[in-house]
Amino acid sequence: MDMQVCGAAREVTGSCYLLTCGETQFLVDCGMYQGGAEERDDNFDPFVFDPDQIDFVLLTHAHIDHCGLIPRLVQEGFQGAIYATHATADLSEIMLLDSAHIQEMEAEWQSRKSKRAGRRTKDPLYTTADAEQSLRLFQGVSYGEEFSPAPGVRARFRDAGHILGSAFLELRMEEQGEEVSIVFSGDVGQPGQPIIRDPETTTDTDYLVMESTYGDRLHDQEGEPVENLVHVLQEAQRAGGNVIIPSFALGRTQELIYFLRERYEDYGLDMPIYIDSPLAKRATEIYRRHRAAYDSEAIDCLAETGSIFTFPELRYTESADESRELNGKNGIVIISASGMADAGRVKHHLKHNLWRPENHVVIVGFQAHGTLGRRLLDGEKRVKIFGEEIAVKAQVHFMPGLSAHADRNQLLEWASHVDSPHRVFLTHGEAAAIFSLKELLEERLRFQVAVPRKHQIYRLESTAA
Ligand SMILES: [Zn+2]
Ligand SMILES: [Zn+2]
Repeated sequence: MDMQVCGAAREVTGSCYLLTCGETQFLVDCGMYQGGAEERDDNFDPFVFDPDQIDFVLLTHAHIDHCGLIPRLVQEGFQGAIYATHATADLSEIMLLDSAHIQEMEAEWQSRKSKRAGRRTKDPLYTTADAEQSLRLFQGVSYGEEFSPAPGVRARFRDAGHILGSAFLELRMEEQGEEVSIVFSGDVGQPGQPIIRDPETTTDTDYLVMESTYGDRLHDQEGEPVENLVHVLQEAQRAGGNVIIPSFALGRTQELIYFLRERYEDYGLDMPIYIDSPLAKRATEIYRRHRAAYDSEAIDCLAETGSIFTFPELRYTESADESRELNGKNGIVIISASGMADAGRVKHHLKHNLWRPENHVVIVGFQAHGTLGRRLLDGEKRVKIFGEEIAVKAQVHFMPGLSAHADRNQLLEWASHVDSPHRVFLTHGEAAAIFSLKELLEERLRFQVAVPRKHQIYRLESTAA
């Protein structure tokens, strides 16, 4: 039995693991690389395995850095089942169709440029037809339900508390009488996040593959993160400025709506809030439907108010024209994707708002190297957007406390429930975060920690004496 780390090795995006157990070959996640142009090019690299030899895929959650390359896998011959929780299966539908649309648009734009330059045109990474084909392969599974996708392999999704449907994965594999257990953390959520339940924990496993996005950072900041956000809105309302919040369409946006709805009136806020992302609107619809995944607070709130995703000041925009109309407005809040401001409508809003000092930009999630969000976070005073140089005069705030990822101490706490694993592999983090978390796990929990490089293969051996 072995595991090959195919992505998210010393970087945050591109989660993908190839597992081999006897004759069976399968993947855990098949994610896309996100970030600057260099990272995005990695998505075109050939797979290190033969897609038509892969028997099935186990998917931890619907974020694109975990599921985004599934349509390409299908385009290249994969025909097996894709197992995911019910909510993840529903969310993957809108995420993969949206991603295919982006790939098609990008290829069209590149092709027009190439034609003018007399160069060869490039095909999209995958198409809507490939995404639709992948959707037929999804099989929803309930949290906690053990299933056997192939002889000798047993799997179980447990709640990871990161976004709706998110799971960590408990796996047991058997080959010639030898049994190995391995847990994939997926993305671990912060305890106390709104709407969804807190992460469950796992106790007994030979191997643990664990994310480390915030392995070197604590979310602690001055004051309550939500209060800080509300204060920024109050200030903008007084000065007649705008607040732009780049936000992942899936997860982050629904939580921001939940937080703001709870506090809006009490804090004297009446600025209109625009959710300017058709994908976020669709994701919110799926959040609305999957009430079984809510925590008790959200269930109570729903019973009291009838809806946790609507309030008078909240508007959802759909068309590109509606989005453009926001350019002329003052005194509004715009929550728009992408979360790292490297694509999507939020780029236009930043272009129109960054140069005015009465405006605010609130960064609420992880920003990968090479993205516009990261450059703003690093305090750059001039940025290029759509080829135009824009002065950054707006106030940029970072509120990591609103993150969907566990921080350093929360990751340590989550890992501490595991009873002396044989080995821990740290992935899904930049090198600094990974090595910092490695030290912590070695010192505090006496774990044996490995830091895989991309494409590295590990033998998984039974640790039973
Ligand atoms: Zn995620
Ligand atoms: Zn992730």
